Amino acid sequence: APTTRFAPSPSGLLHLGNARTALFSLLAALPDGRFLLRIEDSDRARASPVFERALRVDLEWLGFGAYIDEAAVWRQSERGAVYDDFLQKLAHDNLVYPCFCTESELAAERASLRARGLPPRYGGRCAALDPADACSRVAAGEAAVWRFRVPPGQEVAFCDAVRGPQRVATDLLGDFVVRRAQGEAMFFFANALDDALSGVTLVLRGEDHLANTPRQILILRALGLPVPEYGHLPLVVSAGGVPLSKRDGAGSLAALREEGFLPLAVINYLARLGAVVGSERLLPLIELAQAFDCRRIGHAPARYDREQLLHWQRLAMAATPVAEWLPWVEEDVPEAERLRFVEAVCPNALFPEDFRRWAGIVYGERRTLDEDARAAIAAAGAEFFRAAVGHLDAGGAAGDLPAVLKAAGHSGRRLFHGLRAALTGRLAGPELKDILALMPRTLVARRLRECGS
Ligand code: GLU
Repeated sequence: APTTRFAPSPSGLLHLGNARTALFSLLAALPDGRFLLRIEDSDRARASPVFERALRVDLEWLGFGAYIDEAAVWRQSERGAVYDDFLQKLAHDNLVYPCFCTESELAAERASLRARGLPPRYGGRCAALDPADACSRVAAGEAAVWRFRVPPGQEVAFCDAVRGPQRVATDLLGDFVVRRAQGEAMFFFANALDDALSGVTLVLRGEDHLANTPRQILILRALGLPVPEYGHLPLVVSAGGVPLSKRDGAGSLAALREEGFLPLAVINYLARLGAVVGSERLLPLIELAQAFDCRRIGHAPARYDREQLLHWQRLAMAATPVAEWLPWVEEDVPEAERLRFVEAVCPNALFPEDFRRWAGIVYGERRTLDEDARAAIAAAGAEFFRAAVGHLDAGGAAGDLPAVLKAAGHSGRRLFHGLRAALTGRLAGPELKDILALMPRTLVARRLRECGS
């Protein structure tokens, strides 16, 4: 069973793409593997504890918290000494070297390569420095980055769990920086070490990290550390085709949660976002895991489709026991009627908040007329509402209103829309007979009277 991990950088709110990466990683580990959480907060300028807390809330909400071993959560900002150690090892074997080239020298080199139509990469000037000399310059305080000595003329080949066989010529890589002049490890260096050291065997992550993979494999091999299997997921793009970003709040999990999406809907949607699950049914996490297979993840960008998400939301709402909605209406609805009311609203509730909204309409003062309702009230006419009020004033039951009005010559859509509009302020909603049965009689009378005057 694989050990997988989710390794977010707390530099923004998690969006659906990040959540999908977390979900796929967890699904790949279930039921018998391990799922680790690693906080990649080494970029001090961008990482923030606020986002770290937010991502914990998101993971809990999705239901992943139960699978995270808290004792095994690593934070990169606390592991600098480990990265230093491994850099030392590489230095000892002369597999890394200090590079003193200045930014302007490097820029000039890149420009000249580009002018000749070649990919920009480091030409290796400092690779040839005498190691003892170079070390004394570093010791004397001269600024240097550390570069990995890439073996020339080879190929790094690996089988991507999603995209299949990959190969990259080492000559295209150039000696890359593993440690900055200020002393911090480069992101992909720390990331590769942490995966190997925490026993991760399968890394599922965004396609934007594919270019790092050959370098990470070279580093791990050079250190004799185990190389995990890597699988790169196509990006999730917005309906407009742009990649979702942590910086635009749209599509963030927090925004979806605020809107009232249920976690079960979100994970069922995400499990099928650019991937094939052999079932169209709403499945709990553990059954999604049984149906999950890395090889059935598509290679094209996955497009966020709100209609699809709403489809799963409807199924998740319908799958929720009605009793869970009772607290949403307790402010407005008398206890004895709560269950009946909730059952009546259920078919029309897309979000939990809809229960509260309908409670305010049917029992409280929170009814406003939308434009269609105004038109329906005008079309029914004052006479219609006076007839309705007359029936109530004579002691008739609210539930008899449709029959009574029909007998008085009103019919069809005009009748039903007129009543519905007057009572609820909109034309869609729970069954009219349920509204007439549940709405307090005084409220029914008042709303009809308003329309008849
Ligand atoms: N911290 C990286 C990110 O948030 C994760 C890279 C990885 O999963 O290997 O994009």
